[in-house]
Amino acid sequence: VSGAGRLYTEEDPLVILSSGSLKSAVTNSSSAWLIQFFSSWCGHCIQYSSTWKALAQDVKDWQDAVSVGVLDCAQEENFDVCKDYSIKFYPTFKVRQHVPAAGVYTDAGADRSIPSVRQLMVNILQNHTNLDRPKHCPPLEPYSAAQLLPLLGQRSDHYTAILVEEPDSYVGREVILDLLQYSGVQVKRALSSDRPLVDALKLTAFPSIYLLHPNGTHAHLHSEKPLRFFFSSLLRTLPGVQRRLKSSSTSSSGASQVGALPGKQNTEPWRDFDRSKVYMADLESALHYLLRVELATHNTLEGEELKIFKDLVTLVAKLYPGGGSVVKLMETLSDWLLSMPLQRIPYQAVLDLVDNKMRISGVFLGAELRWVGCQGSRAGLRGYPCSLWTLFHVLTVQHDANPTALDNTGLEAEVAPVLQVMRRYIRTFFGCRECGRHFEQAASVGMDNVQNREQQILWLWQQHNRVNMRLAGSLSDDPLFPKAPWPSPSLCASCHEEKNGIHVWNQDNVLRFLRHHYAASNLSPEYSV
Ligand code: FAD
Repeated sequence: VSGAGRLYTEEDPLVILSSGSLKSAVTNSSSAWLIQFFSSWCGHCIQYSSTWKALAQDVKDWQDAVSVGVLDCAQEENFDVCKDYSIKFYPTFKVRQHVPAAGVYTDAGADRSIPSVRQLMVNILQNHTNLDRPKHCPPLEPYSAAQLLPLLGQRSDHYTAILVEEPDSYVGREVILDLLQYSGVQVKRALSSDRPLVDALKLTAFPSIYLLHPNGTHAHLHSEKPLRFFFSSLLRTLPGVQRRLKSSSTSSSGASQVGALPGKQNTEPWRDFDRSKVYMADLESALHYLLRVELATHNTLEGEELKIFKDLVTLVAKLYPGGGSVVKLMETLSDWLLSMPLQRIPYQAVLDLVDNKMRISGVFLGAELRWVGCQGSRAGLRGYPCSLWTLFHVLTVQHDANPTALDNTGLEAEVAPVLQVMRRYIRTFFGCRECGRHFEQAASVGMDNVQNREQQILWLWQQHNRVNMRLAGSLSDDPLFPKAPWPSPSLCASCHEEKNGIHVWNQDNVLRFLRHHYAASNLSPEYSV
């Protein structure tokens, strides 16, 4: 693997260019470009790479208008192209406007902080004329009262969000670009100096959003904080607003697709649910699927597999909240597995025990799959993988609430037993192999740094968000439940902050939120057996 391969990989949300691909990728592109020419041996470039990746992640949804790339001048195959572009120092930043005839590269400014580079990207886009602006870039200029006020009261097939802001603010243009990949809402910006507009909409604080609904009604959109992330997140979660799916050929993430079965209709009746709750029915369905479907693909359990399965059953028996029938069943299963002198257990024996136990004692583990918080808008979306994440989040929080629950199980010596058991289970049994490979990769880099139960909760949250970001817009992304940083501002406003123009998490508040969200007291028995 070359130095460049290590500094930037295909997993990063940017385009790795080379002499061979530069011309075809950039010249024929329908977007503008911001390219960092770097050298993999330059210490500063190595240090800066994390900022550049964070920037690329921050503006990932802008890529149809302006793309972010890197090119490693230390690779022999790139020597000539770096000479042609007169790259003398590293890193050098070049912007290329989207000008079909003669795209010119110009050097970018010296300030390389994320907000400054982001503003530079907005400026690149605004330097275009209406005629040569990238095809997918909406107008970024402010609209006037005369253009906007006639829209009030009109019906439409989409929302119109009027973001009114101070003249020097970039929030409006950033939100416009953040919503580029979404259908069902148009964002227009206007200025606080436009008195007729501000008076008509009765706005007093800036920036703020005035929202025109498709049915012709209109009102100020309440946002907990007047920040880009809050505005974008609120607009993305309006009913009917959907992320446009990437075609699989343009997905650069290499993400595997789990459970994507386009075209299949959902025949289950819809179950109304509250997104701020966790549903027992989902947890029960997770175990049902795990025991009856996923495990069934292994005819016998032996050696390492058997040990991993035993550990999982023990973990659930000890930590599953509520002490109801699921716990009884898992305890029985756990005792039985531990009492078995056998090194090898046929799967059928596990199934017989589960069935017998359920029949004799009236202990039930949902006789069918019943997704609630994990319902998909059509069959094949969400369901099991969603419930498995949910189950493990619950277990991390339960382990924190009951630190001695795993005493005398053989798991008590592990620093992060829930994560370790999850890691082994996913690696060995989880049907989505690619998911397992990704998870194992992440675990091998970061899981060993987890020192305590709080970090165990946070590590899983963080890793889940990384997966969310990677999969946003992929085929397995349910349009009704688009993957996004979680919890959203509407679930937890205090989890979100902005520092130096960049969205940051308030981890103390995230931890507090997770402890509440995945607590036994937030589990809803609705739809459960
Ligand atoms: P999910 O991502 O499954 O989330 C379920 C619920 O958890 C959400 O509805 C929300 O309430 C809550 N939640 C969301 N984010 C967080 C968070 N950060 N912290 C705590 N709670 C949260 N699919 C692939 O295509 N490629 C992969 O590589 C891949 N890897 C996976 C690895 C693992 C270990 C698992 C369990 C699943 C993986 N999947 C992968 C499946 C994918 O992550 C989703 O589970 C699936 O697409 C269903 O998505 P969903 O919309 O139901 O939400």
